[in-house]
Amino acid sequence: MTRPNILFIMCDDHAAAAISAYGSGLNSTPQIDRIAQNGMRMDRCYVTNSICTPSRASILTGTYNHVNLVTTLDTHLDNRLPNVAKHLRSTGYQTAMFGKWHLGEGPAHQPSGFDQWSVVPGQGEYFDPVMIGPEGETVEKGYATDIITDKSVDFITNRDKDRPFFLMCHHKAPHRPFVPHPRHNDLYTDDLPVPETFDDTYENRAVAAGAAKMRVRRDMSYTDLGLVQPEGGSEVGEMVMPGADLRTVPDDHEGLRLIDRATGETYTFETKRELDLFKYQRYIKRYLRTVAAIDESVGRLLDTLDAEGLTDDTIVIYTSDQGFFLGEHGWFDKRFMYEESLQMPFLVQYPRAIAPGSVSKDIAMNVDFAPTFLDYAGQTSPTYMQGNSLRPVFESTAGDDWQEVAYHRYWMHKDDIHNAFAHYGIRSARYKLIYWYNEPLDQIGANAGDEPPEWELFDCEADPHELNNLAHDPAHAEVFATMLHKLDAKMAEIGEEPRHDTAAILRQAVAA
Ligand code: CA
Repeated sequence: MTRPNILFIMCDDHAAAAISAYGSGLNSTPQIDRIAQNGMRMDRCYVTNSICTPSRASILTGTYNHVNLVTTLDTHLDNRLPNVAKHLRSTGYQTAMFGKWHLGEGPAHQPSGFDQWSVVPGQGEYFDPVMIGPEGETVEKGYATDIITDKSVDFITNRDKDRPFFLMCHHKAPHRPFVPHPRHNDLYTDDLPVPETFDDTYENRAVAAGAAKMRVRRDMSYTDLGLVQPEGGSEVGEMVMPGADLRTVPDDHEGLRLIDRATGETYTFETKRELDLFKYQRYIKRYLRTVAAIDESVGRLLDTLDAEGLTDDTIVIYTSDQGFFLGEHGWFDKRFMYEESLQMPFLVQYPRAIAPGSVSKDIAMNVDFAPTFLDYAGQTSPTYMQGNSLRPVFESTAGDDWQEVAYHRYWMHKDDIHNAFAHYGIRSARYKLIYWYNEPLDQIGANAGDEPPEWELFDCEADPHELNNLAHDPAHAEVFATMLHKLDAKMAEIGEEPRHDTAAILRQAVAA
């Protein structure tokens, strides 16, 4: 059988709830949905560390972050390590990477394993982005989503027709600060629905939930919301982080006057509630408008495959480096193991092997992507890779012995901007166990955390919004112990060092 082309389209911070194929009703993404109609929608695909850089390292190398050492946003990938592009290229694939790399710049960290590459430095800019390639830096005129699409389409149309290709098209959007193209400014004139959990009070949850500085009503900046940041000090808003000239929009409505940066329109507020909802609507509309350009991009890429006669021979994947909170629990951002952030949207089509319109609830992870690509390319997965090929899932042949849990670990602790706490845990089909070990990255093992460790257990079927922590519920003691053993087994399997003491926990449970 001919080796398939692989077109891997990944966005940055695109929540499943902002894709209509996932049935959210929030927006319409007809082009992205084409992949779900032509192939499979996966409902339980999870990220192993819900932030950009570590997720990308896991995707490329097929390893967890304690193995590839990309645990945080500041620990960049050593490009001497093997990765899936290098393996594919060594067996004749032509390889390319366009868009957001976010694994570091310079000779030690820039893309490696790609015949062609052109990437934005760091987060990149929405308009007129700097792009770095083998020949150095250039400023490219236009909107980042369109530029990255142009490069990907050019690569496909100008490919070497005698060899298969592996193309990573990595959009920068819809990452903060959510800057849409003006052609989408008229979308979403009507207000959008407010999530059920927008007013979450974080009761009966770990301290971490209430401590996070990720609240739409309190922690979004003027820039995030497309508003003019007035001159002045703390009276115009708290600093988002020390040393950056980014301030949050105040959460007191009295005397507040906000100005739209593009139109000059001004806004004042009668009540605090009015201000809260104004922020949510500004946020969600700007976010979804950036998604509209991505949807167009996916349409152009699929049309290019059709026009080139490549559709039957190409695996097309649409995903995001992690999920994102779209006002659920009152939050924006990600980082947490809660579902909106943990879930990666994942749509895949490959007409030669995947049934159209199929839906999978099998557990999948980003570390599984690289082994999957190699499997379809007819290569054995190298032993250093820790993920499992998703081929049995795609082809609906996964049996009862398919992987039972996904593992997540967020290593940073109380970063300056988000104040998110360090944690790890597992997600099974039904339950989620989280251990907030709360130790700073540079002091793990020194018990230097200010907050005592905490456990959370959620029944994701009975409590899909994860509002009710069952870790201390006597009726769930058995479930807790079972999940704890599964966590231990998973950590042992992947060579991860636990921060908890299972024997002590179980002794305590018996004594109680
Ligand atoms: Ca991201």
